[in-house]
Amino acid sequence: MIVVFKPNISKRDEAAVLKEIRKLGYRPHVMRGIERVVVGAIGDERTHQSLETLASWPQVEQVMPVQKRYKLVSREGQRNNSVITVRKHPIGGKKFQVMAGPCSVENERQLMSTAHAVQKAGATILRGGAFKPRTSPYEFQGLGEKGLKLLAKARRETGLPIITELLSEEHAKMVAEYADIIQIGARNSQNYQLLIAAAKTGKPVLLKRGLSMRIEEWLLAGEYVLSNNNPNLMFCERGIRTFETYTRNTLDLSTIPIIKNESHCPIIIDPSQGAGRADLVASFCHGAAAMGADGLLIEVHPNPSEAWSDGPQQLSLDGFARLMESLKPFIAAAGRE
Ligand code: PEP
Ligand code: MN
Repeated sequence: MIVVFKPNISKRDEAAVLKEIRKLGYRPHVMRGIERVVVGAIGDERTHQSLETLASWPQVEQVMPVQKRYKLVSREGQRNNSVITVRKHPIGGKKFQVMAGPCSVENERQLMSTAHAVQKAGATILRGGAFKPRTSPYEFQGLGEKGLKLLAKARRETGLPIITELLSEEHAKMVAEYADIIQIGARNSQNYQLLIAAAKTGKPVLLKRGLSMRIEEWLLAGEYVLSNNNPNLMFCERGIRTFETYTRNTLDLSTIPIIKNESHCPIIIDPSQGAGRADLVASFCHGAAAMGADGLLIEVHPNPSEAWSDGPQQLSLDGFARLMESLKPFIAAAGRE
């Protein structure tokens, strides 16, 4: 149930309602918009009619059931876009954000040269996998904590915040010590215990869409983050598995307006895992920016042909700089900066 307060009510009147919600056995989740305060009452859906009595309280404007299975990620609960600030960089606001860096952190030289180059070209966040979810156990699995330490060093040198993947609950505390944003990969997007562990670190979470995940399932997976007291969630479309073979995955840009309609959380597009080939990345980025995505997550490597993972889809440093230049009119067309 959603309880909508009248505008400009006192803290005392607000607290009284929250107390009553708790008394009825629900957990109040307060969302403060620019115009008014809305409270999601989280708990047993079978008895939520008991909350309807609040509609007669003078400080309450409306009590309404949330029709959707997802509640906290839903636009019904929060009309304004969520803006997530990561070391002074707002994600989900007017500024279009580009996160870029190698698929995997390989060594210091590779990471530092990429970090400096993507920063120079205009990226605001550095990506890099230290724990890699590889299809084969014989492929490079990532440098682990050594990779996290290199990412932290790159942040010290450039000031760029870092995003890196969390693969296992066991590593949640460690990864959160280094990361500014925790990435949950496509293969783990419905690993609910991992989502809870990521949420509980308190760090912003970027949730990739699973390989065969419906949008409703994705929104519900996001609900695990918000319902574990972490409001800083962003969705990331990276392509789904279809019958098509010209691309590694089918990048579903229709998710941009759909997520924007359904949710207040930012939506980021990863064209690299979507395309699986570097030559398509720029046009996917142009489309994503023009369609209103909040940002991009792009793989960049100083020498893609020698990359330890995902070589064919990574942009060279020059290729990335050219892409950033070509992106400008598309960002402007979407009314972003
Ligand atoms: C990645 O970003 O390198 C990655 C493994 O992504 P996904 O989980 O989308 O496959
Ligand atoms: Mn990759």
